[in-house]
Amino acid sequence: MTTAIVLTNEQLIQLASIAKSALPNESCAFLLGEGNGLEVAEVMPMNNSDKSPFSFTIAADDVLSAYRDAEGKGLQVIGIFHSHPGRPFPSSTDRKFMELNPVVWLIYSTTENRFEAHLLGDTLENVQIKFRE
Ligand SMILES: [Zn+2]
Repeated sequence: MTTAIVLTNEQLIQLASIAKSALPNESCAFLLGEGNGLEVAEVMPMNNSDKSPFSFTIAADDVLSAYRDAEGKGLQVIGIFHSHPGRPFPSSTDRKFMELNPVVWLIYSTTENRFEAHLLGDTLENVQIKFRE
C-alpha cells in the first residue's frame, strides 16, 4: 500500500506562496491533522531561524508553542513542510532530521514549482500527494 498525504488545492497554493515569499531563503511550516490520518486540516507557517537558502531550523520555543496550539485545536503535527531552491528531494541533512521526526516530509521546489513528499522508515519512501475539495 502506498502512503498518501491529502491536501486541498488551497493548502498547496498557500504553501507555494509561503515558499515564494521567503525567497531566497528556505521556508517551513507544520502540517496539522487528526492523529489517525494523513489529511491536512491546517497549515501552520513557521519561522526559519536559519534565514538560509540551504537549510531550515525551527527554534525549540516555536516548536513547543506550535505543538501546544495544535493540541488546543485537537490536532497533531502530521507533516513537516519546507522549500528548496532546487529539486524537492530530501537532502542528507533532511534525512538526518527525518529520522528524528518520522512524519511525512513535504518539500516544494521554488525552481521546479512542484511538490514531493517522503517518509523515512527502513528506507526512504515516496508518499503520494492527493487532493481533496
Ligand atoms: Zn531540505
